[in-house]
Amino acid sequence: MASPYAIRIVGDPVLRQRADDVTDIDGRLAKLCQDMAQTMYEAPGLGLAAPQVGVQKRFFVYDLGAGDGTEVLINPVVTESAGEWEFHEGCLSVPGLGFDIVRPKEIHVTGVDLDGNEVSFEADELLARLVQHELDHLDGVLLLDHLDDEQRREAKKALRERAMVGEPAPAVPEPAKRSLFRLR
Ligand code: ZN
Repeated sequence: MASPYAIRIVGDPVLRQRADDVTDIDGRLAKLCQDMAQTMYEAPGLGLAAPQVGVQKRFFVYDLGAGDGTEVLINPVVTESAGEWEFHEGCLSVPGLGFDIVRPKEIHVTGVDLDGNEVSFEADELLARLVQHELDHLDGVLLLDHLDDEQRREAKKALRERAMVGEPAPAVPEPAKRSLFRLR
């Protein structure tokens, strides 16, 4: 079965807007999360934020493969952050490109789950990275905004070349092993 949603790609204005808080946690939102999760698994990716499927609401789905299934975080806020961690990061909305990006290593996150319960937890490394990446999407920020000058030149060139030839972007260069390329 085909994905219920097409993932929006860089250049789509919906990726550049700040999403609104979720006010109603109901069956409709649960269904949306289910459909987004399907889209994420089929991509495949580790996370998917609502704006990436054109929904301007502050929530995202993710699954780091730890066996807990699909997680949903609604109205997330990073309340504390510490340290620095470099990670090769990619995005389903910026297909074919990946960059080493430094962000805080540990964060404290609050939000709401699909049952309407408040959640509050510490995250580090991969989970911290995922949360920060998805939260960026809710603020209209893309990983391109985190690049240094050289990386930005490289990214613009790759995006330009792709636009000209109308071909998919080249494969992500090494190191791809621990890539968040699939984390969108
Ligand atoms: Zn992304």
